[in-house]
Amino acid sequence: MDFTFSKEHQLLRRAFREFTEQEIAPRIDEIEHSKSGPPADLMEKAAEYGIFGVPFPQKYGGMGAGETGYCILMEELNRVSPSFATVVGAHIGISSMAIYLDGTEEQKQKYLVPMAKGEKIGAFALTEPGAGSDAAATRTRAVREGDSYILDGTKHFITNGSICDVAVVLALTDPALGPRGGMTGFIVESQWEGFKVSKIEDKMGIRGSPTCEIVLEELRVPQENVLGPVGMGFVTFMKTLDVGRTTIGAASLGGAQYVLDRAIEWAVTREAFGGPIAHKQSIQWMIADMAAEIEALRSLVYRTAWLVDTKQPFSREAAICKLFGSEVCSRVTDKALQIHGALGYSRHMPLERGLRDARISEIFEGTNEIQRIVIAANIFQEHGVRIHP
Ligand SMILES: Cc1cc2nc3c(=O)[nH]c(=O)nc-3n(C[C@H](O)[C@H](O)[C@H](O)COP(=O)(O)OP(=O)(O)OC[C@H]3O[C@@H](n4cnc5c(N)ncnc54)[C@H](O)[C@@H]3O)c2cc1C
Repeated sequence: MDFTFSKEHQLLRRAFREFTEQEIAPRIDEIEHSKSGPPADLMEKAAEYGIFGVPFPQKYGGMGAGETGYCILMEELNRVSPSFATVVGAHIGISSMAIYLDGTEEQKQKYLVPMAKGEKIGAFALTEPGAGSDAAATRTRAVREGDSYILDGTKHFITNGSICDVAVVLALTDPALGPRGGMTGFIVESQWEGFKVSKIEDKMGIRGSPTCEIVLEELRVPQENVLGPVGMGFVTFMKTLDVGRTTIGAASLGGAQYVLDRAIEWAVTREAFGGPIAHKQSIQWMIADMAAEIEALRSLVYRTAWLVDTKQPFSREAAICKLFGSEVCSRVTDKALQIHGALGYSRHMPLERGLRDARISEIFEGTNEIQRIVIAANIFQEHGVRIHP
């Protein structure tokens, strides 16, 4: 076993830290108050740093840093701005990733390359008003017409919906077969007629990342934009989510470490009853519990990234990363806020935003209840028992 990061990964972390400290941190308020996503010049700067293509091979315009490099990126981005991390995560981890995993060589050249360079922004359109956790209930219809498919339906809560150039969309091609053979993935361009952003959600947290309802109305998609084999879209979307889940754990790690650092600084500075609150055992125990959970999460995230990079099965571990990571981040942020007393509750401090932002990771890319089902199904499968959600 070797628990050290390679020299390349250490350099990457340094570059991402520089980007977040110099470019993102001074503009948090601007990002949080923007309804149209992060400022364009910030997105351009991120593209200059190569951020949008971190895990992908260089031949597809990426950095070739694999899942480990991508986890480092998400850890660093989420320390400073979960909103920005969400925009980047939806773009890389589920939108570009779906094309990387199941796209044809032509599709990769046409879409993945500009996406990895940050010239095109991606969205992942799975969720519908009647199909959230139960993605098999997808109702968006795709009907074959000559060399094209005509898509009709509504997708909601789609990150980057209003700023995307490209969206991967799951639709029903054969209702009789449903998710097993009757659903197909499509690569759709937002400029095409019939792609309409009908609503931008007003959310509790990650307010600087646009989350949208998208209506697809007689949207004509050429046959060459079918993503993966016809009828196999459900599989493409589910395996893409598997990869995304590891990095939600990584993002949670970054968020949790950031607030622990703030809590330690505050504990040694703030005085009460004649000395720093760090002298109080209740504060020490909170700090110790936070540190213990964060260390466990760090090991989990990077072991899972190693499984992905070495092409070993990682589905169960990825679900554990998301489940454990998101709950650790919420718990740790809550404790950090408590350690700051009234100041923690103030909007002048990053803790209240941190708590609002952390909460989403227990919901998107499959709720934590669904992660528990994935983990249990994986375990029972080894014992010959098949469980259903
Ligand atoms: C900010 C934000 C960004 C998002 N971004 C995207 C995106 O980019 N692309 C996209 O496609 N989607 C996106 N989503 C949607 C998200 O993935 C779904 O909200 C999530 O999968 C849950 O679906 P739902 O909201 O319909 O909840 P429901 O499925 O209605 O679930 C409601 C409750 O019931 C529980 N539940 C449901 N089924 C079971 C079961 N079998 N066993 C136990 N409990 C169960 C759930 O865990 C939850 O607590 C986003 C959501 C948010 C809030």
